Amino acid sequence: MKLDLTEIAKTIGMHAEATIDEPCPPDMGLECESNVHGKVKLTNTGTLLVLSGEVIADVKLECGRCLVDFAAPLKAEIEEQFRLEHVGDAVGVFPLEEEDENTLLVNNNLLDVDELIRQNLLLVLPIRPLCDEDCAGLCPTCGENLNTAKCECPPPKVDSPFSVLADLLDDETEA
Ligand SMILES: [Zn+2]
Ligand SMILES: [Zn+2]
Repeated sequence: MKLDLTEIAKTIGMHAEATIDEPCPPDMGLECESNVHGKVKLTNTGTLLVLSGEVIADVKLECGRCLVDFAAPLKAEIEEQFRLEHVGDAVGVFPLEEEDENTLLVNNNLLDVDELIRQNLLLVLPIRPLCDEDCAGLCPTCGENLNTAKCECPPPKVDSPFSVLADLLDDETEA
């Protein structure tokens, strides 16, 4: 979806609202279980176009412990600012800085809503998603999912400074 900013760009003090109900942007690298929902507010302050709002999507994530896919809601707060500048008779919307990521967001006074969703949802993507805070994970020996089954493997050897010390002592007694 592209949002035409021409009208709000030329009207100082104007507010506008847009409702977002869009399929997941295909280039986001995430599978969504539902449409992306949200709302953005736009305000023309005279020199800036201020955009604020939020987007919510149910995305499919893989648990970092048991590797099972699960759906989780991702919610991103959006705060963006763009520069308003007169270009002849019209007013153009530009990124605050040229090398800013926002250069991808506006072009010819059109706001790329897909790109807005993509950038902001990726920011709140958990680094190591967990299907549950208490996920028991996989057995490091046999790979069994310990959330749904028990296995007969002995508990893994714990690496502690004392086990290293014990190895050293073993070496000395052998020598
Ligand atoms: Zn898990
Ligand atoms: Zn096991």
